[in-house]
Amino acid sequence: MQRDRGIHPGLIGFDIDCVVADTMEAFIRLAMDDYGLKVLPEEITSFQVEECLAVAPRIIDEIFARLLSAPVENGLKPMPHAVAVLTEMAACGPVTFITARPEREPVDRWLESIFPKEVYRHSRLVATGKHDGKAQYVRELGLQYFVDDRVETCTELAEAGIFPIVFAHPWNRGRHSFASIDSWLDIKQRILFNEFVS
Ligand SMILES: [Mg+2]
Repeated sequence: MQRDRGIHPGLIGFDIDCVVADTMEAFIRLAMDDYGLKVLPEEITSFQVEECLAVAPRIIDEIFARLLSAPVENGLKPMPHAVAVLTEMAACGPVTFITARPEREPVDRWLESIFPKEVYRHSRLVATGKHDGKAQYVRELGLQYFVDDRVETCTELAEAGIFPIVFAHPWNRGRHSFASIDSWLDIKQRILFNEFVS
């Protein structure tokens, strides 16, 4: 195992929701503030939120639609330490984001709002519009590693010869045998020490 250099930023990509963006914080906050619904983070045990919460699907859809079309206006926050770690990585090369979101422009504006100008200008963003099929984009962008919170995506990536890294959340814990990280400080530490490279 090499310990003298980490994974080059040009070889690793990141999902947006629940990896770079604290989407569930925003979901829980909007549910409380605008609909008076109390949702606890540990209650979100399924990627399909409607399967695990006693909240009307119409309301769930409405909240996610707001976060898709207007993430800046709805106060979507980055995950703790995401901006600092990605800013550090960006000093070595452009950072890449691939999201299943259908629209690129709102999430592009969100990235612009959270990152220093230089980091944003040199970042790459792809919005695929569908949950399946990320592997093709990951490969086309020349990436070898990808961080995502959706187990099905990680399985698809692994089958395509890409090294998936699961960002741990209640909805993926115990449901896979891939490499896993549980915070951006963990990403920094393990990329720095190259623990994913055998
Ligand atoms: Mg995600």
